[in-house]
Amino acid sequence: MKILINGKYYQKNEKIDIINPYNQKIIDNVPKCDKSDVEKAIKHGKNSQKILNEWSAYKVSNGLYSAYEDLRKEKKKIAKTITEETGKPIKDSIVEMERSIETLKLSAEEAKRIYGEAIPLDAGLGGKGFFAFTQKLPLGLVVAITPFNYPVNLAIHKVAPAIATKNSIILKPSIKAPISALRLCEIIDNYFPNGVINTITGYGSELGEELTLNPNVDKITFTGSVPVGIMIKNRAGMKKVSLELGGNDPLLVLKDANIEKAVKSATIGSYLYSGQVCMGVKRIIVDNKIADDFLELFVKETKKLKFGDPLDIKTDIGPLIDERAAEIVEKSVDNAIKNGASLVYGGKRKGNFFQPTILDNLNENMDIIVNETFGPISPIIRIDGVDEAIKIANNSDYGLQAGVFTENIADALKCANEIDSGAVFINKQSTFRTDNMPFGGFKLSGVGKEGVKYAVEDMVKTKLIGLNLR
Ligand code: NAD
Repeated sequence: MKILINGKYYQKNEKIDIINPYNQKIIDNVPKCDKSDVEKAIKHGKNSQKILNEWSAYKVSNGLYSAYEDLRKEKKKIAKTITEETGKPIKDSIVEMERSIETLKLSAEEAKRIYGEAIPLDAGLGGKGFFAFTQKLPLGLVVAITPFNYPVNLAIHKVAPAIATKNSIILKPSIKAPISALRLCEIIDNYFPNGVINTITGYGSELGEELTLNPNVDKITFTGSVPVGIMIKNRAGMKKVSLELGGNDPLLVLKDANIEKAVKSATIGSYLYSGQVCMGVKRIIVDNKIADDFLELFVKETKKLKFGDPLDIKTDIGPLIDERAAEIVEKSVDNAIKNGASLVYGGKRKGNFFQPTILDNLNENMDIIVNETFGPISPIIRIDGVDEAIKIANNSDYGLQAGVFTENIADALKCANEIDSGAVFINKQSTFRTDNMPFGGFKLSGVGKEGVKYAVEDMVKTKLIGLNLR
């Protein structure tokens, strides 16, 4: 697969193989870009933004609608590519594509709603006699850097709002899974001036500096791990930055919860894409009064999950992205057991496959609870009452999303008010997102929001025009 700069496709002598995590076969290769490729993309991106800026919102919206129609036609094909490059079960890749298509449509709609407001300057001292209004203007050139786990959806949440606001963009997808995102950009490029959308492939550690330090970049929007996010923020200087980072989301199961529903949610939340999800359920906080019943049912549900070939529509659990990722998960499970956790189910690794694993009797200070684990692990912390549950939920450097199961309205509202995270869902797990909702965490989980309307707000600058009528 080639990269795209200024409407032209490029391959390079130096290439990087892209490996299918399920069978270790090479799917394709992509160019190993260097600093000069980034400079080229930045130069063209910056120039082409001026051309896009002349387009009407009507024309921009139509371009995004046309791309949406094309993406719909390629839904199955790109879903298969996602599965081949990430090892994600195909049924989940299809959902990712459906959500991505929806996100593109939401962006086409939003492109027509970018406007400022009339400002009553006479409400301020000395402002009498003015007519004033604001305009929402594009920032210029946006750099988007995305992770491996939702390669199309996380890319479209940056690319489409950037174009809807008449910015140009350079996408650098994860080198672990770049192909589906490159195809997405090719589709959109067909409807916009050359250079509005550009792609770069290679190692983040080699390309990151130029992508983030170059003064012609006006905004960086990043989704990925906390250490890389912090490095980008430190490098960005005065550039606008949005960071969608890691999570360590809790699921609170209080004493009067509907246990069956809570177990279903724990199963989806812990094991969706083998737990390689930022908003996955990473800590299950269960009241002692129902913990044994919850656990018994949870083990039963977990046993039903079908392990296997991710391209099989019946598969629930595929491989982790690579063997190193599985080794990290194995180490953290072994460590937890050494420190007193009880292994209830699973716990075994084979290559880059890791069994869905339930651990009981954890405490809030264990590494597996404190750190984000990117694997199919369900660590259970037993508590007494809603106050302790909230205290433990909040004892984290992260604050992406949270789920609470209770039939008690007072406890539900208490959790909603007191849990310090970007979203709290009552009777639903944290692993839930619609593409129009404001999405983004507190604390180390990030800065800024995505969800088309909210990403758009972060892709513009506000200018005030004031007319002195006196
Ligand atoms: P990662 O941080 O390793 O990589 C993300 C991207 O950053 C990749 O494109 C990578 O090439 C690039 N990168 C790496 N080093 C860089 C550098 N020095 N400069 C610039 N870019 C660099 O993350 P990952 O392993 O691909 O994804 C998993 C992480 O992403 C988890 O922490 C997960 O929670 C997080 N994530 C967050 C969200 C969210 O919306 N909050 C969504 C998905 C994943």
